[in-house]
Amino acid sequence: MPELPEVETVARDLRMRAGRAALHQRVGESMPGVLRFPGRRGGSPQSSPAAAVGEVERRGKYILCRLDGGEDLVVHLGMTGHLRVVNGDAEVVKHTHLRAGLDDGRELRFDDARRFGRVMLGCPNGAGGAARAPGSRGGASLRGLHARSASSGLMRRTTRTVKAALLDQSGIAGLGNIYVDEACHLAGIRPTRRANRLTRRERSALHAAIRSVLTKAIANRGTTIDDYRDLRDARGSHQEELQVYGRGGEPCLRCGAVLRRRVVAGRTTVYCTSCQR
Ligand SMILES: [Zn+2]
Repeated sequence: MPELPEVETVARDLRMRAGRAALHQRVGESMPGVLRFPGRRGGSPQSSPAAAVGEVERRGKYILCRLDGGEDLVVHLGMTGHLRVVNGDAEVVKHTHLRAGLDDGRELRFDDARRFGRVMLGCPNGAGGAARAPGSRGGASLRGLHARSASSGLMRRTTRTVKAALLDQSGIAGLGNIYVDEACHLAGIRPTRRANRLTRRERSALHAAIRSVLTKAIANRGTTIDDYRDLRDARGSHQEELQVYGRGGEPCLRCGAVLRRRVVAGRTTVYCTSCQR
């Protein structure tokens, strides 16, 4: 499932096209659920006048794309969603929910086999559309991690495990199973610890590790385990640098001990009992 670095990579790719691309001739498959028109009476999926793509930003795991016609395009990749720019005559893959022509003859398309993704057209501009979108509980952006008081407070108050607290999207939106395990390993903290038992120094180490892991993963254009692809349909490369995720039973790359795998907070979790305390 795409986490913050993957969504950020797609948003940055899209931002490169801002100002040059113009969406027109919107065509949606009438698959219920994925493509939504929250601002339109009757939720009409009919095509709209061309609208230039303006600012593109990421909020948590939502991509907000401001269109000059007064509406926003909001995309959530869900579990298996792909937002891609392809040649207009490219084969339309199964489960394509949106085809939007660009002014250079190419198309912005969204496909999603499992349909947990969302494409919302017609959110009023500026909307904080994402913040109010279904399933969104807001949360800090990567930039917001620099101001860490909020999530630090969350960690201090909760008796849940570090893993559960970090997975809580209201704390740090976009941090999922992969990067929580990676950050805990980098910080030398077991994900099974009670969050409120961490020392100030450990909390600080954990937040530094989160920033470091996310920044590196963005530089590597995300982690592709199975489905994730960027706007140009290319894989990320951060999977080649994962230290613990998916490596249960294998040796720790830092100390050589066998990595432990167990379910924590309902998710498969991998950590080192030797160098994570
Ligand atoms: Zn180790």
